[in-house]
Amino acid sequence: MQGLYGDVIIEISHEKLDRPFQYKIPESLRGELYLGARVEIPFGKADRIIKGYLINITDKAEFPPEKMKEIIGLSSGIGEAGAEDQLIRLAIWMKRHYGGTLIQSLRVVFPVKKVIRPKEKKTVELLITPAEAESIAEECDRKHRTAQARLLSALASCGEMDLTLLREKLNVSAAVIHRFEEQKLVRLSVERDYRNPGTAENTRKKVCKLTSTQQAIVDDFVKNYRMGLRDPSLLFGVTGSGKTEVYMEMISEVLKSGKQAIVLIPEIALTFQTVMRFCARFGSRVSYLHSKLSAGERYDQFCRAKDGEIDIMIGPRSALFTPFPDLGIIIIDEEHEGSYKAENMPKYHAREVALERARLANAALVFGSATPSVDSFYHAKRGEYRLYEIRDRISDTGLPSVYVADLREELIKGNRSMFSDVLSSKIRERLNNKEQIMLFLNRRGFAGFVSCRKCGEVMKCPHCDVSLSLHGRNRLVCHYCGYETPMIHKCPNCGSKYVGGMRAGTEQVEEMVHGLFPEARVLRMDADTTKEKGGYEKILSAFSNEEADILVGTQMIVKGHDFPKVTLVGILAADLSLYANDYRAGERTFQLLTQASGRAGRADRPGEVVIQTYSPEHYSVAAAARQDYNDFYAEEIGYRNLMGYPPVSHMLKVLVEDKDPDRSKDMASDMANVVKSFGIGMVIGPAQDSIWKIKDIYRNVFYIRHADMEVLADDKDILENWRRENPTGSTQVQFDFDPM
Ligand code: ADP
Ligand code: ZN
Ligand code: ZN
Repeated sequence: MQGLYGDVIIEISHEKLDRPFQYKIPESLRGELYLGARVEIPFGKADRIIKGYLINITDKAEFPPEKMKEIIGLSSGIGEAGAEDQLIRLAIWMKRHYGGTLIQSLRVVFPVKKVIRPKEKKTVELLITPAEAESIAEECDRKHRTAQARLLSALASCGEMDLTLLREKLNVSAAVIHRFEEQKLVRLSVERDYRNPGTAENTRKKVCKLTSTQQAIVDDFVKNYRMGLRDPSLLFGVTGSGKTEVYMEMISEVLKSGKQAIVLIPEIALTFQTVMRFCARFGSRVSYLHSKLSAGERYDQFCRAKDGEIDIMIGPRSALFTPFPDLGIIIIDEEHEGSYKAENMPKYHAREVALERARLANAALVFGSATPSVDSFYHAKRGEYRLYEIRDRISDTGLPSVYVADLREELIKGNRSMFSDVLSSKIRERLNNKEQIMLFLNRRGFAGFVSCRKCGEVMKCPHCDVSLSLHGRNRLVCHYCGYETPMIHKCPNCGSKYVGGMRAGTEQVEEMVHGLFPEARVLRMDADTTKEKGGYEKILSAFSNEEADILVGTQMIVKGHDFPKVTLVGILAADLSLYANDYRAGERTFQLLTQASGRAGRADRPGEVVIQTYSPEHYSVAAAARQDYNDFYAEEIGYRNLMGYPPVSHMLKVLVEDKDPDRSKDMASDMANVVKSFGIGMVIGPAQDSIWKIKDIYRNVFYIRHADMEVLADDKDILENWRRENPTGSTQVQFDFDPM
């Protein structure tokens, strides 16, 4: 890289990143230096020679050059800093692929350093043997004292646990703990140097004998790992098929060689039980991250990883940056989950960053899912990932029976409620049998699409094959290419006048349930009811304690929780996510329907699922009803191929924001023209973004499509350079690769 001056940071920590020191780049080094290079510099009054990282190269001096010291040279000990070096390279890779500044990327990679005020830590410790605890737990369970049972069986597997964790994640009240204390079953100890969710002093290491399928997968992994082969693998196994056991075996192999492991689990699925399983198996060398940790606590966890005090880090996407000195494996469970994609700049995807981190560390990488992302499955099909499959659940309750209710026919029958006849009669049956019901409204996909309630026809963009969105009362707009047409009031397919947007929310569902089934006790879980701290856990545990018959909710209710008494799952409007205005709508719908169906009948009772839809013939709905991933994939990849959507091709979304709607629009079209004249790839748009205005900022977008991600990264560089040369005050530009 060329340039006269270089910004150097001398210590990598979040709060130092903003204070780089500028140095002159001597002639001899020009063109030799690169971002992230470790350089030697004179520092301080005495010009002590120290090492630092070069984070920017520029021709603009920040203070008079005659006062500036010179970079001495490249540090000879490349790689000596281990994890830190790798993480800097990772940040540079992120800057290149997701845009923004290197500082922005470094900030994501390195956590904030803070001195931690030692907090009073309270630990609950088991005073009886694990076996005794288990047997009392069983007794409590029989007497429906579920909180007591939960507490004892958790302690049985871990010995001792943090009080806050017990109260929040396990939802055990202080009174319960107090009662056990009086009975001398547990002891509450204050201010021990507690740092782990559970320590393993008197832990039983439960290792179950793997099934032959599980064992074959582990054997193959071990064989490849020992041979030094590091191509990523995809573990495709239905929920409850024993994937977590497989991960733990893989980790145990990697730990044997003195290396460390990162396990990513989406925050919402990161249950107490999961963490405990790892603790029970690997003891106190496990730590975990979650969003409720303060910056200081997070930093502390990272330090412990760096210092070799722990070997396994479990957490959401940010755990990917754990500075382990010798990382051996990264596991991404539920790899299809949307939460692995960052929402702020740099908008990275944990799957992609994990590929790069694993490459830098020469670590193994394992993706796992019951409904793999089309992306990962595509790579597996092409032989780029090893594909491991587990087809059966460990327990022998089969998969649930699925019924599809055609809402068009309900309309013809004159049923205008939100419940088809088959769903209402099944709800009634369950209420009589004292079994539980989950009603699921996939409302997040709700984006104002317009359809015919009589024949199910959805108004789509003739150019992009995604749904048009209703703007105001009268305009239908495509958010990819900008195509517009006035609102259609008569169905172009059947002529019916029942054309309109779908509007329904969890609150309305709850009201209707009260109206139709007044005797039922209902809980609702959505963004509103889970706002307060611990709200999510509270509702889940109330439902699992059978304090309600029906749980109504959004996405949140379908993730990873076992409710053995749930024998019926109703999906109220499959179409809400089916016709979201982006190319992943079919994939997301298939995943949601499959995962929601998986909630029914998990213990000894068979489950049933009712999927209500206006589009029973749509392949996402039909394949989900048959629980056939391969059929779904075949259709979906055909569509992606035809339309040139990822993973067959890649898309770069360029979002232009400005207070002035015209400036936002003009800048988007100028930038689109820059790509058309200097860049490579196909430009789609510009158009208004699906959310055109947020807090009085107007948003226009365009997309660039190309089969090669690196070409898109080049386009992004071209646009960033062009922006530097044509600065416009307040306009903001964000890049998003393969947007979701
Ligand atoms: P997944 O991660 O695919 O959802 P889990 O690993 O959680 O599956 O396994 C589901 C259940 O089956 C767990 O309770 C687990 O302890 C149990 N299990 C997994 N493998 C075995 C095995 N080989 N033998 C007995 N039980 C198993
Ligand atoms: Zn129609
Ligand atoms: Zn279009």
